[in-house]
Amino acid sequence: MSKTNRTKGAMTTAIHAGEGPDPATGASSPPLHMSSTFVSDRLAGFSAHDLEEEGGFIYSRWNNPTVAMLEKKIAAMQGAEACLCLASGMAAATAIFMTFLSSGDHVVISDVSYAGVAELARDTLPRMGVEVTTVDMSDLEAVSAALRPNTTLVHTETPVNPITRLTDLSAVSALARQVGALLSCDATFASPLGMDAIGLGVDLVMHSITKYIGGHGDAVGGAVAGKADLIARMRNEAAIHHGGVLSPFNAWLIARGAATLPLRMKAHQAGALSVAQWLETHPKVTRVMYPGLPSHPQVDLAKRQMTNFSGMISFQVGNAPTGRTVAQQMIDRLEVIHYAVSLGHHRSLVFWMETDLLMETSFRLQGDQLNSYREFAGDGIFRLSVGLEDAEDLIADLDGALG
Ligand SMILES: *Cc1c(COP(=O)(O)O)cnc(C)c1O
Repeated sequence: MSKTNRTKGAMTTAIHAGEGPDPATGASSPPLHMSSTFVSDRLAGFSAHDLEEEGGFIYSRWNNPTVAMLEKKIAAMQGAEACLCLASGMAAATAIFMTFLSSGDHVVISDVSYAGVAELARDTLPRMGVEVTTVDMSDLEAVSAALRPNTTLVHTETPVNPITRLTDLSAVSALARQVGALLSCDATFASPLGMDAIGLGVDLVMHSITKYIGGHGDAVGGAVAGKADLIARMRNEAAIHHGGVLSPFNAWLIARGAATLPLRMKAHQAGALSVAQWLETHPKVTRVMYPGLPSHPQVDLAKRQMTNFSGMISFQVGNAPTGRTVAQQMIDRLEVIHYAVSLGHHRSLVFWMETDLLMETSFRLQGDQLNSYREFAGDGIFRLSVGLEDAEDLIADLDGALG
Protein backbone atom coordinates (compact mmCIF):
# COMPACT_ATOMS: atom_id res chain seq x y z
CA MET A 1 0.00 0.00 0.00
CA SER A 2 1.14 3.52 -0.66
CA LYS A 3 0.85 4.41 3.07
CA THR A 4 3.98 2.56 4.15
CA ASN A 5 7.52 2.72 2.88
CA ARG A 6 8.28 -0.88 3.80
CA THR A 7 9.36 -2.88 0.79
CA LYS A 8 6.94 -5.66 -0.02
CA GLY A 9 7.38 -8.63 -2.31
CA ALA A 10 7.03 -8.22 -6.08
CA MET A 11 3.54 -9.77 -6.24
CA THR A 12 2.19 -7.71 -3.32
CA THR A 13 3.73 -4.56 -4.81
CA ALA A 14 2.19 -5.17 -8.25
CA ILE A 15 -1.25 -5.62 -6.69
CA HIS A 16 -1.28 -2.96 -3.96
CA ALA A 17 1.24 -0.22 -4.81
CA GLY A 18 -0.41 3.08 -5.70
CA GLU A 19 -3.89 1.97 -4.72
CA GLY A 20 -6.01 1.48 -1.62
CA PRO A 21 -9.70 1.46 -0.68
CA ASP A 22 -11.41 4.55 -2.12
CA PRO A 23 -11.91 6.96 0.80
CA ALA A 24 -15.14 8.32 -0.74
CA THR A 25 -16.94 5.00 -1.23
CA GLY A 26 -14.88 2.20 0.31
CA ALA A 27 -14.53 0.64 -3.16
CA SER A 28 -11.84 -2.06 -2.99
CA SER A 29 -10.86 -1.61 -6.67
CA PRO A 30 -9.26 1.61 -7.88
CA PRO A 31 -11.81 4.05 -9.32
CA LEU A 32 -11.62 5.35 -12.89
CA HIS A 33 -11.60 9.15 -12.77
CA MET A 34 -12.67 10.28 -16.25
CA SER A 35 -12.51 13.98 -15.44
CA SER A 36 -10.53 16.57 -17.34
CA THR A 37 -10.72 19.17 -14.55
CA PHE A 38 -10.96 19.22 -10.77
CA VAL A 39 -12.90 21.67 -8.58
CA SER A 40 -10.49 23.85 -6.65
CA ASP A 41 -10.88 24.84 -3.02
CA ARG A 42 -8.16 27.48 -3.11
CA LEU A 43 -6.49 30.03 -5.34
CA ALA A 44 -3.77 28.50 -7.51
CA GLY A 45 -1.51 29.64 -10.33
CA PHE A 46 -2.12 28.80 -13.97
CA SER A 47 1.32 27.64 -15.11
CA ALA A 48 3.22 24.37 -15.06
CA HIS A 49 5.56 26.07 -12.61
CA ASP A 50 2.75 26.25 -10.05
CA LEU A 51 2.40 22.47 -9.85
CA GLU A 52 3.13 21.49 -6.25
CA GLU A 53 4.20 18.07 -5.11
CA GLU A 54 1.12 16.35 -3.59
CA GLY A 55 -0.72 19.62 -4.25
CA GLY A 56 -4.00 17.99 -5.31
CA PHE A 57 -5.42 17.72 -8.82
CA ILE A 58 -6.03 20.67 -11.13
CA TYR A 59 -6.33 19.50 -14.74
CA SER A 60 -5.72 16.05 -16.26
CA ARG A 61 -2.88 17.19 -18.51
CA TRP A 62 -0.99 18.02 -15.29
CA ASN A 63 -2.03 14.95 -13.34
CA ASN A 64 -5.04 12.70 -12.81
CA PRO A 65 -5.81 10.40 -9.86
CA THR A 66 -6.14 7.23 -11.99
CA VAL A 67 -2.96 7.98 -13.93
CA ALA A 68 -1.19 8.86 -10.64
CA MET A 69 -2.25 5.47 -9.24
CA LEU A 70 -0.57 3.71 -12.20
CA GLU A 71 2.51 5.94 -11.92
CA LYS A 72 2.97 4.97 -8.25
CA LYS A 73 2.48 1.31 -9.11
CA ILE A 74 5.10 1.34 -11.90
CA ALA A 75 7.56 3.37 -9.76
CA ALA A 76 7.22 0.80 -6.97
CA MET A 77 7.60 -2.18 -9.33
CA GLN A 78 10.69 -0.60 -10.90
CA GLY A 79 12.16 0.39 -7.51
CA ALA A 80 12.23 4.05 -8.58
CA GLU A 81 11.29 7.20 -6.66
CA ALA A 82 8.80 8.42 -9.26
CA CYS A 83 7.23 7.71 -12.64
CA LEU A 84 5.58 9.68 -15.43
CA CYS A 85 3.08 7.97 -17.71
CA LEU A 86 2.51 9.24 -21.25
CA ALA A 87 0.33 8.41 -24.25
CA SER A 88 2.68 5.79 -25.77
CA GLY A 89 6.14 4.31 -25.52
CA MET A 90 7.23 6.68 -28.28
CA ALA A 91 5.87 9.63 -26.26
CA ALA A 92 8.04 8.40 -23.36
CA ALA A 93 11.15 8.27 -25.58
CA THR A 94 10.38 11.71 -27.03
CA ALA A 95 9.90 13.03 -23.50
CA ILE A 96 13.38 11.83 -22.46
CA PHE A 97 15.04 13.38 -25.52
CA MET A 98 13.14 16.67 -25.43
CA THR A 99 13.57 17.19 -21.69
CA PHE A 100 17.24 16.35 -21.37
CA LEU A 101 18.70 17.41 -24.75
CA SER A 102 19.20 20.95 -26.03
CA SER A 103 20.81 22.38 -29.13
CA GLY A 104 24.59 21.84 -28.91
CA ASP A 105 24.27 18.70 -26.76
CA HIS A 106 25.52 15.30 -27.83
CA VAL A 107 23.64 12.03 -27.32
CA VAL A 108 25.02 8.50 -27.61
CA ILE A 109 22.33 6.02 -28.58
CA SER A 110 22.31 2.29 -29.18
CA ASP A 111 22.79 1.63 -32.91
CA VAL A 112 19.98 -0.91 -32.68
CA SER A 113 16.86 0.17 -30.86
CA TYR A 114 13.11 0.18 -31.27
CA ALA A 115 12.68 1.31 -34.91
CA GLY A 116 10.66 4.40 -33.97
CA VAL A 117 13.31 5.52 -31.49
CA ALA A 118 16.09 4.85 -34.02
CA GLU A 119 14.32 6.99 -36.63
CA LEU A 120 13.53 9.77 -34.12
CA ALA A 121 17.18 9.93 -33.07
CA ARG A 122 18.54 9.86 -36.63
CA ASP A 123 16.02 12.14 -38.34
CA THR A 124 14.57 14.53 -35.76
CA LEU A 125 17.27 15.19 -33.16
CA PRO A 126 19.85 16.55 -35.66
CA ARG A 127 17.17 19.00 -36.88
CA MET A 128 16.97 20.27 -33.28
CA GLY A 129 20.72 20.89 -33.20
CA VAL A 130 21.54 17.75 -31.21
CA GLU A 131 24.56 15.72 -32.29
CA VAL A 132 23.83 11.99 -32.41
CA THR A 133 26.34 9.13 -32.26
CA THR A 134 25.05 5.58 -32.63
CA VAL A 135 27.09 2.77 -31.08
CA ASP A 136 26.90 -0.95 -30.50
CA MET A 137 26.16 -0.81 -26.77
CA SER A 138 27.50 -4.33 -26.23
CA ASP A 139 30.96 -2.96 -27.18
CA LEU A 140 32.15 -1.01 -24.12
CA GLU A 141 35.20 0.35 -25.94
CA ALA A 142 32.96 1.80 -28.64
CA VAL A 143 30.74 3.38 -25.98
CA SER A 144 33.75 4.86 -24.22
CA ALA A 145 35.18 6.22 -27.49
CA ALA A 146 31.84 7.82 -28.41
CA LEU A 147 31.55 9.88 -25.21
CA ARG A 148 32.44 13.59 -25.36
CA PRO A 149 32.52 16.45 -22.85
CA ASN A 150 29.14 17.67 -24.21
CA THR A 151 27.48 14.23 -24.03
CA THR A 152 24.46 14.83 -21.83
CA LEU A 153 22.55 11.59 -22.44
CA VAL A 154 23.32 7.96 -23.21
CA HIS A 155 20.28 5.99 -24.37
CA THR A 156 20.28 2.21 -24.60
CA GLU A 157 17.84 -0.65 -24.78
CA THR A 158 18.29 -4.11 -23.27
CA PRO A 159 17.45 -6.71 -24.42
CA VAL A 160 17.30 -4.77 -27.64
CA ASN A 161 14.30 -4.99 -29.95
CA PRO A 162 14.41 -6.99 -32.22
CA ILE A 163 17.67 -8.98 -31.82
CA THR A 164 17.85 -9.48 -27.99
CA ARG A 165 21.43 -8.19 -27.80
CA LEU A 166 22.22 -7.04 -24.24
CA THR A 167 23.82 -3.93 -22.74
CA ASP A 168 25.91 -4.27 -19.56
CA LEU A 169 24.04 -1.57 -17.65
CA SER A 170 26.41 -1.13 -14.69
CA ALA A 171 29.41 -0.82 -17.03
CA VAL A 172 27.69 1.70 -19.35
CA SER A 173 26.36 3.61 -16.34
CA ALA A 174 29.92 3.98 -14.98
CA LEU A 175 31.09 5.30 -18.37
CA ALA A 176 28.20 7.77 -18.64
CA ARG A 177 28.89 9.05 -15.14
CA GLN A 178 32.51 9.84 -16.07
CA VAL A 179 31.28 12.56 -18.45
CA GLY A 180 28.31 13.57 -16.30
CA ALA A 181 25.75 12.17 -18.76
CA LEU A 182 22.41 10.67 -17.76
CA LEU A 183 21.77 7.05 -18.71
CA SER A 184 18.32 6.14 -20.00
CA CYS A 185 17.33 2.58 -20.81
CA ASP A 186 14.35 1.25 -22.74
CA ALA A 187 13.52 -1.83 -20.67
CA THR A 188 10.34 -2.76 -22.54
CA PHE A 189 11.58 -6.26 -23.51
CA ALA A 190 12.68 -7.01 -19.93
CA SER A 191 9.69 -5.45 -18.09
CA PRO A 192 10.33 -4.12 -14.56
CA LEU A 193 10.74 -7.74 -13.42
CA GLY A 194 13.48 -8.54 -15.94
CA MET A 195 16.26 -6.58 -14.25
CA ASP A 196 16.80 -4.01 -11.52
CA ALA A 197 17.67 -1.22 -13.95
CA ILE A 198 17.71 1.47 -11.23
CA GLY A 199 19.99 -0.67 -9.03
CA LEU A 200 22.30 -1.17 -12.02
CA GLY A 201 22.76 2.61 -12.34
CA VAL A 202 20.15 3.65 -14.91
CA ASP A 203 18.79 7.17 -14.31
CA LEU A 204 15.67 6.91 -16.48
CA VAL A 205 13.98 3.56 -17.13
CA MET A 206 11.53 3.70 -20.00
CA HIS A 207 8.79 1.22 -20.90
CA SER A 208 6.23 0.91 -23.64
CA ILE A 209 3.45 -0.07 -21.21
CA THR A 210 1.48 -1.17 -24.27
CA LYS A 211 3.58 -4.32 -23.94
CA TYR A 212 4.27 -6.39 -20.78
CA ILE A 213 3.01 -3.95 -18.12
CA GLY A 214 -0.46 -3.67 -19.69
CA GLY A 215 -0.07 -7.18 -20.99
CA HIS A 216 -3.41 -7.66 -22.74
CA GLY A 217 -2.99 -5.87 -26.07
CA ASP A 218 -5.85 -3.45 -25.46
CA ALA A 219 -4.22 -0.12 -24.55
CA VAL A 220 -1.29 1.96 -25.76
CA GLY A 221 0.84 3.82 -23.19
CA GLY A 222 4.36 4.69 -22.07
CA ALA A 223 6.23 5.31 -18.83
CA VAL A 224 9.54 6.68 -17.56
CA ALA A 225 10.70 5.94 -13.99
CA GLY A 226 13.59 7.50 -12.07
CA LYS A 227 14.55 10.07 -9.44
CA ALA A 228 11.76 12.43 -8.37
CA ASP A 229 13.52 15.61 -9.54
CA LEU A 230 14.16 14.21 -13.05
CA ILE A 231 10.56 12.97 -13.34
CA ALA A 232 9.22 16.34 -12.15
CA ARG A 233 11.20 18.07 -14.94
CA MET A 234 9.74 15.62 -17.44
CA ARG A 235 6.17 16.15 -16.18
CA ASN A 236 6.62 19.88 -16.66
CA GLU A 237 8.07 19.56 -20.19
CA ALA A 238 6.52 16.49 -21.68
CA ALA A 239 3.13 16.22 -20.03
CA ILE A 240 2.11 19.80 -19.24
CA HIS A 241 3.82 21.49 -22.21
CA HIS A 242 4.11 18.89 -24.98
CA GLY A 243 0.81 17.40 -23.90
CA GLY A 244 1.12 13.72 -24.79
CA VAL A 245 -0.60 12.49 -21.63
CA LEU A 246 -2.09 9.06 -20.95
CA SER A 247 -5.86 8.78 -20.88
CA PRO A 248 -7.18 7.79 -17.42
CA PHE A 249 -9.11 4.97 -19.12
CA ASN A 250 -5.90 3.51 -20.55
CA ALA A 251 -4.19 3.98 -17.16
CA TRP A 252 -7.01 2.05 -15.50
CA LEU A 253 -6.80 -0.81 -18.04
CA ILE A 254 -3.01 -0.93 -17.82
CA ALA A 255 -3.05 -0.92 -13.99
CA ARG A 256 -5.47 -3.86 -14.08
CA GLY A 257 -2.95 -5.73 -16.21
CA ALA A 258 0.05 -4.59 -14.13
CA ALA A 259 -1.38 -6.25 -11.01
CA THR A 260 -0.58 -9.69 -12.47
CA LEU A 261 2.76 -8.76 -14.08
CA PRO A 262 4.99 -10.91 -11.80
CA LEU A 263 2.84 -14.00 -12.39
CA ARG A 264 2.67 -13.36 -16.11
CA MET A 265 6.43 -12.80 -16.43
CA LYS A 266 7.11 -16.17 -14.79
CA ALA A 267 4.74 -17.82 -17.27
CA HIS A 268 6.15 -15.88 -20.27
CA GLN A 269 9.65 -17.01 -19.29
CA ALA A 270 8.64 -20.65 -18.83
CA GLY A 271 6.76 -20.70 -22.16
CA ALA A 272 9.55 -18.94 -24.03
CA LEU A 273 12.16 -21.38 -22.70
CA SER A 274 10.11 -24.39 -23.88
CA VAL A 275 9.48 -22.85 -27.31
CA ALA A 276 13.11 -21.67 -27.70
CA GLN A 277 14.46 -25.12 -26.80
CA TRP A 278 12.09 -26.72 -29.31
CA LEU A 279 13.02 -24.20 -32.02
CA GLU A 280 16.70 -25.09 -31.52
CA THR A 281 15.87 -28.70 -32.50
CA HIS A 282 13.85 -27.82 -35.62
CA PRO A 283 15.70 -28.64 -38.86
CA LYS A 284 14.50 -25.45 -40.64
CA VAL A 285 15.63 -23.14 -37.82
CA THR A 286 19.22 -22.00 -38.27
CA ARG A 287 19.64 -19.85 -35.15
CA VAL A 288 17.68 -19.04 -31.98
CA MET A 289 18.40 -16.01 -29.82
CA TYR A 290 16.98 -16.01 -26.29
CA PRO A 291 18.82 -14.66 -23.22
CA GLY A 292 17.56 -17.67 -21.23
CA LEU A 293 19.35 -20.17 -23.51
CA PRO A 294 22.97 -21.26 -22.96
CA SER A 295 23.55 -20.51 -26.69
CA HIS A 296 22.91 -16.75 -26.29
CA PRO A 297 26.20 -14.98 -27.14
CA GLN A 298 26.02 -12.96 -23.89
CA VAL A 299 24.77 -15.71 -21.60
CA ASP A 300 27.04 -14.70 -18.70
CA LEU A 301 25.82 -11.12 -18.76
CA ALA A 302 22.23 -12.37 -19.10
CA LYS A 303 22.61 -14.48 -15.94
CA ARG A 304 24.34 -11.70 -14.02
CA GLN A 305 21.99 -8.89 -14.98
CA MET A 306 18.58 -10.39 -15.62
CA THR A 307 16.10 -11.68 -13.08
CA ASN A 308 13.58 -12.83 -15.70
CA PHE A 309 14.36 -13.58 -19.36
CA SER A 310 10.85 -12.59 -20.51
CA GLY A 311 9.02 -14.05 -23.48
CA MET A 312 10.93 -12.46 -26.37
CA ILE A 313 12.70 -14.80 -28.79
CA SER A 314 14.21 -14.10 -32.18
CA PHE A 315 15.06 -16.86 -34.63
CA GLN A 316 16.38 -17.31 -38.17
CA VAL A 317 15.47 -19.79 -40.89
CA GLY A 318 18.33 -19.11 -43.31
CA ASN A 319 18.50 -16.50 -46.07
CA ALA A 320 15.99 -13.74 -46.79
CA PRO A 321 13.97 -15.59 -49.51
CA THR A 322 13.48 -18.55 -47.11
CA GLY A 323 12.45 -16.11 -44.38
CA ARG A 324 9.88 -14.50 -46.68
CA THR A 325 8.47 -17.91 -47.64
CA VAL A 326 8.15 -18.99 -44.00
CA ALA A 327 6.56 -15.64 -43.10
CA GLN A 328 3.91 -16.21 -45.80
CA GLN A 329 3.34 -19.75 -44.49
CA MET A 330 2.82 -18.28 -41.02
CA ILE A 331 0.26 -15.79 -42.36
CA ASP A 332 -1.57 -18.65 -44.10
CA ARG A 333 -1.31 -21.39 -41.49
CA LEU A 334 -0.96 -20.10 -37.93
CA GLU A 335 -4.06 -20.86 -35.86
CA VAL A 336 -3.08 -19.73 -32.37
CA ILE A 337 -0.22 -17.27 -32.82
CA HIS A 338 -1.13 -13.96 -34.47
CA TYR A 339 1.13 -12.71 -37.25
CA ALA A 340 1.31 -9.12 -36.00
CA VAL A 341 3.64 -6.48 -34.62
CA SER A 342 3.76 -5.61 -30.91
CA LEU A 343 4.70 -7.88 -28.01
CA GLY A 344 4.27 -8.69 -24.34
CA HIS A 345 0.59 -9.62 -24.64
CA HIS A 346 -1.15 -12.71 -23.30
CA ARG A 347 -1.60 -13.70 -26.98
CA SER A 348 1.52 -14.88 -28.80
CA LEU A 349 2.63 -12.67 -31.70
CA VAL A 350 5.20 -13.23 -34.42
CA PHE A 351 6.61 -10.91 -37.11
CA TRP A 352 9.29 -11.28 -39.80
CA MET A 353 11.97 -8.57 -40.00
CA GLU A 354 14.26 -8.67 -43.00
CA THR A 355 17.71 -7.24 -42.31
CA ASP A 356 18.15 -5.28 -45.59
CA LEU A 357 14.74 -3.62 -45.26
CA LEU A 358 15.27 -2.71 -41.62
CA MET A 359 18.68 -1.25 -42.47
CA GLU A 360 17.16 0.97 -45.16
CA THR A 361 14.29 2.29 -43.08
CA SER A 362 15.53 2.40 -39.51
CA PHE A 363 19.09 1.46 -38.58
CA ARG A 364 21.23 2.34 -41.64
CA LEU A 365 24.24 0.48 -40.20
CA GLN A 366 27.52 -0.09 -42.00
CA GLY A 367 30.85 -1.80 -41.37
CA ASP A 368 31.38 -3.29 -37.88
CA GLN A 369 27.96 -2.17 -36.68
CA LEU A 370 26.24 -3.94 -39.56
CA ASN A 371 28.40 -7.03 -38.98
CA SER A 372 27.45 -7.10 -35.30
CA TYR A 373 23.75 -6.83 -36.23
CA ARG A 374 24.10 -9.62 -38.78
CA GLU A 375 25.88 -11.78 -36.21
CA PHE A 376 22.61 -11.81 -34.28
CA ALA A 377 20.09 -11.51 -37.07
CA GLY A 378 21.63 -12.88 -40.27
CA ASP A 379 19.49 -11.89 -43.28
CA GLY A 380 16.45 -11.51 -41.07
CA ILE A 381 14.68 -12.75 -37.99
CA PHE A 382 11.31 -13.77 -36.74
CA ARG A 383 10.53 -11.82 -33.58
CA LEU A 384 8.36 -14.08 -31.48
CA SER A 385 6.57 -12.79 -28.41
CA VAL A 386 5.63 -15.91 -26.49
CA GLY A 387 2.28 -15.30 -24.81
CA LEU A 388 0.53 -17.21 -22.06
CA GLU A 389 -0.97 -20.05 -24.10
CA ASP A 390 0.09 -23.67 -23.48
CA ALA A 391 3.60 -24.16 -24.86
CA GLU A 392 2.54 -27.41 -26.60
CA ASP A 393 -0.08 -25.51 -28.60
CA LEU A 394 2.42 -22.84 -29.63
CA ILE A 395 4.93 -25.50 -30.66
CA ALA A 396 2.30 -27.37 -32.70
CA ASP A 397 1.28 -24.09 -34.36
CA LEU A 398 4.90 -23.20 -35.25
CA ASP A 399 5.58 -26.74 -36.44
CA GLY A 400 2.65 -26.50 -38.86
CA ALA A 401 3.77 -23.12 -40.18
CA LEU A 402 7.49 -23.95 -40.49
CA GLY A 403 6.59 -27.23 -42.25
C1 LIG B 1 6.78 -0.90 -28.74
C2 LIG B 1 8.05 -0.35 -28.28
C3 LIG B 1 8.24 1.02 -28.17
C4 LIG B 1 7.19 2.02 -28.60
O1 LIG B 1 6.07 1.93 -27.76
P1 LIG B 1 4.59 2.36 -28.25
O2 LIG B 1 3.78 2.14 -27.01
O3 LIG B 1 4.22 1.48 -29.39
O4 LIG B 1 4.68 3.79 -28.65
C5 LIG B 1 9.44 1.48 -27.69
N1 LIG B 1 10.42 0.63 -27.34
C6 LIG B 1 10.29 -0.70 -27.45
C7 LIG B 1 11.41 -1.59 -27.07
C8 LIG B 1 9.10 -1.24 -27.93
O5 LIG B 1 8.97 -2.56 -28.06
